[in-house]
Amino acid sequence: MLSTMMSYPLTTNHVLERAGTLFGDRVVAWRRPDKTVVRHTYADMRRRARALAAALVAAGIGRGDRVATLMWNNGPHLEAYFGIPAAGAVLHTLNLRLAPEDIAYIVNDAEDRIVILDDVLLPLWEKIRPHVNVERVLVAGAGSLPNWAESYEAFIAGRGADYVYPDLDEHAACGMCYTSGTTGRPKGVVYGHRSTVLHSLTIAIPDCLGLSVNDAVLAVTPMFHANSWGVPYAAAMMGANQVFPGPHLGAEDLLDLMAEERITLALGVPTIWMMIQQALDAAPARWPLVKGMRMMVGGSAVPPAMIRAFDRHGLTIKHGWGMTETSPVGSLAWLKPQHADAGYDAQVSVRAKQGIPLPLVEMRIVGDAGEQSHDGKSAGELQVRGPWITGSYFKVGAQPDKFTADGWLRTGDVATLDAEGYMRIADRTKDLIKSGGEWISSVDLENAVMGHPAVAEAAVIAVAHPKWDERPLAVVVAKPGQHVSAEALREHLLAQFPKWMVPDDYAFVDALPKTSTGKFLKTKLREDFRGYRAKG
Ligand code: AMP
Repeated sequence: MLSTMMSYPLTTNHVLERAGTLFGDRVVAWRRPDKTVVRHTYADMRRRARALAAALVAAGIGRGDRVATLMWNNGPHLEAYFGIPAAGAVLHTLNLRLAPEDIAYIVNDAEDRIVILDDVLLPLWEKIRPHVNVERVLVAGAGSLPNWAESYEAFIAGRGADYVYPDLDEHAACGMCYTSGTTGRPKGVVYGHRSTVLHSLTIAIPDCLGLSVNDAVLAVTPMFHANSWGVPYAAAMMGANQVFPGPHLGAEDLLDLMAEERITLALGVPTIWMMIQQALDAAPARWPLVKGMRMMVGGSAVPPAMIRAFDRHGLTIKHGWGMTETSPVGSLAWLKPQHADAGYDAQVSVRAKQGIPLPLVEMRIVGDAGEQSHDGKSAGELQVRGPWITGSYFKVGAQPDKFTADGWLRTGDVATLDAEGYMRIADRTKDLIKSGGEWISSVDLENAVMGHPAVAEAAVIAVAHPKWDERPLAVVVAKPGQHVSAEALREHLLAQFPKWMVPDDYAFVDALPKTSTGKFLKTKLREDFRGYRAKG
């Protein structure tokens, strides 16, 4: 027997209407390249997103056509988040930190028909342009335009007042993002209206981000990477104010914005928060931040020392895990009632885990001998499935190295699940260190090294060893003006790990190579240290 409930499609158009009509006076603000702040409302955003949709339809963009953005986090990008899907088309966000050749490959693979650019990114597009074949280039912002580009403002002007949304299947594509592709060519992940709406609703729940109309959200995570963790959609759904930093991602600029805009929730990768922590430690009273501001941090592991450091400033880290393939939020670490009296140290170690799967997401750990028990110790590959987890890639389909025959996504992360339901990442499969036949987690060592007060950043990689096969090498960046020795770090680690896990080798560098999304680029580190012979 079927239910008597209506068959009502879940679409981002509903979110746009809701934000623009029920929360029309809530703010969308962003920093322009010249650092001035522009202030719109959700009513403005709705009007302009509908104008964009109408203009795209008038330009011949049809259902499922890809319209790309090459933009920083700003108001016009939010308009594109809603306006492109409102035309029945697919928002394809391009990662502006990639090399021009890689961006060109991605534009061609996706067959983008139109691209919307920030004016400050025109020089980057000049390098991409000879290698791609898009029909129209729309430029947001002021400035003079080359003859092959058009003004975004002129494109949307006067459009959309009577725009009628197309009837959309909730399974239709609304967005697209390519994987970072540290190995092999990047692959397209295609998000749907339904998956985006369900993801937005779920990340807003109290135990996850606890998003409400009273929030002011600062998305530092790029809107070109996994929809800025889906938060722009969720914040619009709840009517929360949204603030965007534009191209200004320095710690002091971000802290100024957090203080001025009374931010209550900010999101970014750990490398951003490391900079912010250093700035706050150096001048704790300089920025009057909202007490209890939440910070969603993920993309790579959050060191427990960072959670403690922000707690001291009265700011709360929420640690999440996800992938481009998972929309991206798969889990978030929140405390259960039994942790209330567990003591601060125990609470921090729970909060430093990658967390509890969100409602509707399933996780399992698969080792050589099959599914592992949930004992917090038995490690294996993390596999996930759920309504916002991709089941294949654009054009490529579902290759067996990425998906199991019974329909789970193989994440490539090595993890454990414990009896309370918390997932903990030990490593990427290819980053684990095998020393004398035993696995060592590079993530655990990195977290501990970064817990040393004189260390700003650290990454641990495997280096060849004649006897043990591989040994860990810690590559360390000291905090500005501070010095730390290999002996001091060894001592620090010996208090937390068995001797065989503790690196004998330490290299001190000025900076660590990072990926386009701010993760430590271990492939580059491994290249830099190829031929390095471990001690002992
Ligand atoms: P991407 O698709 O570029 O966002 O990368 C996804 C990968 O980032 C995951 O498969 C993990 O390896 C890593 N990752 C994301 N969040 C975390 C986290 N909280 N802790 C450790 N690794 C993470």
